[in-house]
Amino acid sequence: MNILVVEDEKSIREVEAAYLKQQGYTVFEAQDGEEALEVFADKSIDLIILDLNLPSIDGIEVCRKIRNKSLVPIIMVTARIEEIDELVGLETGADDYIKKPFSPAILIARVKSALRRVDEGIVEEMDLHIDPEKMLVEKEGKKISFTTTQFNILYTLVKNPGKVFTREEILDRAYDDSLPPDVLDRTVDAHIKSIRKKLDDKQKYIHTVIGKGYKFGE
Ligand code: CA
Repeated sequence: MNILVVEDEKSIREVEAAYLKQQGYTVFEAQDGEEALEVFADKSIDLIILDLNLPSIDGIEVCRKIRNKSLVPIIMVTARIEEIDELVGLETGADDYIKKPFSPAILIARVKSALRRVDEGIVEEMDLHIDPEKMLVEKEGKKISFTTTQFNILYTLVKNPGKVFTREEILDRAYDDSLPPDVLDRTVDAHIKSIRKKLDDKQKYIHTVIGKGYKFGE
């Protein structure tokens, strides 16, 4: 597995690379956005750890550029917890967010989770067709693009129609997480909002169950 670490601060980049190498991953390093795009174009990268604040092209722009041509999992790293909500709202296309500083355990857990592929069959509910192998969602035969996390959340709900999932359960299935609980809730809500928007939901697919969580269908 090839992981690209994009970080302009050399000491942080080297520490991240060292943790990952310890786990047996092959690590490529880039010190800015331009170099990241070059390495990504040149190598077969399986996952990207991307710092938000970079010189020249910032992390958001790098993320969007890569997402335009690839579904590679992207974990964005930020210094401020508030930035995570903003980033989710911005639809950067990142799959997960980590706040700096983080422990090796958190980094590795997030990486493993992002790399874990959903190994279950195609689901068809109402007019949706979902293929986890291809990370494909079609509504009335028309393809809709989701980030990996959004895909995992939608897939969890659609696979279990009518079952109510708490925000915690949704996150457990979407990715390993060690953020404070209030951030978890708001993160799920932000993702659900994005999913509903992309599906043009109109109260048809995902329903809010007040005081509990979310469910798919009636
Ligand atoms: Ca930086």
